[in-house]
Amino acid sequence: MYADLKGKVALVTGAGKKTGIGYAICEKLAQCGCHLLIADLGLEPAVKNDIKTGTLDEMVQIKEDLAGQYNIQTLCANLDVTDNHTIEALAETIKGEFGHVDILCNNAGATFGVPNGIHTYDETAWLKTFDVNLHGVFRVSKAIVPLMPKTGGSIINTASRAGKVPGLFNGAYAVSKAGVIMMTKVMAKELSGLKIKVNAVCPGQIMTDLEKWRFGLEAKFLNTTIEDQEEKMCATIPMGRIGSPKEVADLVAYLASDQSSYITGQAMNVCGGQLMEL
Ligand code: NAP
Repeated sequence: MYADLKGKVALVTGAGKKTGIGYAICEKLAQCGCHLLIADLGLEPAVKNDIKTGTLDEMVQIKEDLAGQYNIQTLCANLDVTDNHTIEALAETIKGEFGHVDILCNNAGATFGVPNGIHTYDETAWLKTFDVNLHGVFRVSKAIVPLMPKTGGSIINTASRAGKVPGLFNGAYAVSKAGVIMMTKVMAKELSGLKIKVNAVCPGQIMTDLEKWRFGLEAKFLNTTIEDQEEKMCATIPMGRIGSPKEVADLVAYLASDQSSYITGQAMNVCGGQLMEL
């Protein structure tokens, strides 16, 4: 727990699904006493890439549950990080309700299209992936930085281990996340004068809907089972297991808090040792 986080205002994007990393970040920050803006697409119930998308009902439920459980103020908002109108509306809501944001977690992310080499990747899927993962971080940060107090703040971008290590057939996702890591570093330099720390977390294999979808896709591709794929993946992880969203959220809370007061421009791995860098 980080005492300095009590009463701070945090905006978390891509946080409207109980199974996701965004929700785990919200729960951890709520435990620390932060007030929350929970933002996500908030769609009608639907299935995308064989997985259930987050819905407005689920987001409202999260908002109410966290407020009741942790005695904090919570708001939720429909936010599409590719749509400046929804971003501007969110900024207006923040001005009216909280007046400022201390902690911005750019967590929304997605992957589009089917696995393919870059030379055969569908262009629409490629551009859409960048629009959400990379340009979304740019757009939301641009709208929210002016709402951060003069005393400073913390921005935490959810990048990925995939943005550091070349993988196969998921180039749009990997390159967009590499862009998030570089954007994190550029923003850290540019915003240091405003006392805003900017860091990225780089999850490895974390059990969420996105990861389940990926295992399913790989299993289909390689004509094997999801369990087999998961087992093979675990064999590449020194800690021998898939991580949990909570384990990413623990790092995010640390980066949000004053305990990380001398850390900025870093891209920290949460991957059970699957990636070790000098
Ligand atoms: P997830 O459960 O699918 O969460 C992603 C969230 O982002 C979903 O709620 C999704 O909404 C939302 N989103 C998608 N497009 C959006 C848009 N245009 N505007 C606003 N929100 C949007 O997956 P997750 O694993 O928790 O992913 C969270 C973050 O971690 C992502 O940035 C992902 O790339 C990153 N990550 C995950 C892993 C992993 O192993 N799980 C590893 C490395 C990095 P819908 O549900 O409505 O689509």
